[in-house]
Amino acid sequence: MTKILSVNAGSSSLKFKLLNMPEESVIAEGLIERIGGSLDQDDNVTIKFNGEKHKSRQAFKNHEDAINLMLSQFKKFGIVDNFNEIKGIGHRVVAGGEWFNKSVLINDEVLNKIERLAAYAPLHNPANAMGIRAFSKIIPDATEVAVFDTAFHQTMPKENYLYAVPYEYYTKYGVRRYGAHGTSHKYVSEQAAKLIGKPLEELKMITLHLGAGASVTAIKNGRSFDTSMGFSPLAGLVMATRSGDVDVSLIDYIKAKEDISDQEMLNVLNQKSGLLGVSTISSDMRDLLDVYDTNDHAKLAIDMFVGRVVDYIGQYYFELKGADALVFTAGIGENSVPIRKMIIDRLAFLGIKLDEDANDKHGVETKITTDDSKMAAYVIPTNEELEIARDVQNLMK
Ligand code: ADP
Repeated sequence: MTKILSVNAGSSSLKFKLLNMPEESVIAEGLIERIGGSLDQDDNVTIKFNGEKHKSRQAFKNHEDAINLMLSQFKKFGIVDNFNEIKGIGHRVVAGGEWFNKSVLINDEVLNKIERLAAYAPLHNPANAMGIRAFSKIIPDATEVAVFDTAFHQTMPKENYLYAVPYEYYTKYGVRRYGAHGTSHKYVSEQAAKLIGKPLEELKMITLHLGAGASVTAIKNGRSFDTSMGFSPLAGLVMATRSGDVDVSLIDYIKAKEDISDQEMLNVLNQKSGLLGVSTISSDMRDLLDVYDTNDHAKLAIDMFVGRVVDYIGQYYFELKGADALVFTAGIGENSVPIRKMIIDRLAFLGIKLDEDANDKHGVETKITTDDSKMAAYVIPTNEELEIARDVQNLMK
């Protein structure tokens, strides 16, 4: 039994899960928010252990402070007696560029590359690197592994990852589609293959990661073949506050009309668009579903969200020349019975049939189509932390 810690260091937050491997059981998990910022009235530290939630409120100058507190709480609650019990640490890293097509053991060269890739993910990679440096200092003996959000998508063929812009932008500046949510798409495809009872290498799937951020991936023989996110996570589907695909000519036009800067324009597309922008009332799918029948804007936002998902399913179904399974995951994909129904009902003309009772189940891996459906659909709760811990364990061998 080995204790492995999965770490997701965001720009101002630290999410973590301590697992026993290879049992894959969770020992403790938690979230620290408002790192480097000011506190409000709410608790910003949560640790779950032994079925109890411990909450507190505390200011942190930086990630190292937050990690020190997390570890001191591990001792206080008896989660570990000695930090050296934590044998492996897996760090989620957002951008891996073309340098990383799989998870790797961290050394100085890897850390240096993660920092250089900050140009691709300015908010995330510096925070990820900070987290890595802090842990190396505090638990120097643990094996540290970097798990990249983009790595899974490195198998895409060139015709799917290039943009039709001058080729030299790719060779000179790395302009291309990198994708995101790779750890989640990989995890749910592996779990779906187990449910289907066939090797992943023999399967074609379309995986739908529908959360606040959302992306679709076409998986061919177990590998990413195409994905909806692009150079950055702004592309593709309609998301909670992100626009997804837009005609880029709009950018200059809106900037001029609204008299806003490049940065403000990016902020509009990232923070004020998507479900929030269209509905004008909320970025949360639950709020919109509550008023679907009474609020025209909410209905429009949901119809656009569902429509864009169906567009991508159609595109990938053709690209893959058919698929064995459709997989739903993340906040909306795992929890929203009506959204799954709207999506699958739009595929009825392909002979895909929803099993309404199965679609009503919650929190479990389930097939939600009938046995005579032309293509199966599954709900698979994602578990990026477990996928990270699996990679750490494999690299420790
Ligand atoms: P992320 O990790 O991208 O922040 P999550 O995967 O946690 O997001 O998904 C969060 C989103 O899931 C919320 O914004 C909310 O819209 C949606 N969500 C959660 N539960 C439900 C539900 N029961 N019905 C509809 N949407 C839900």
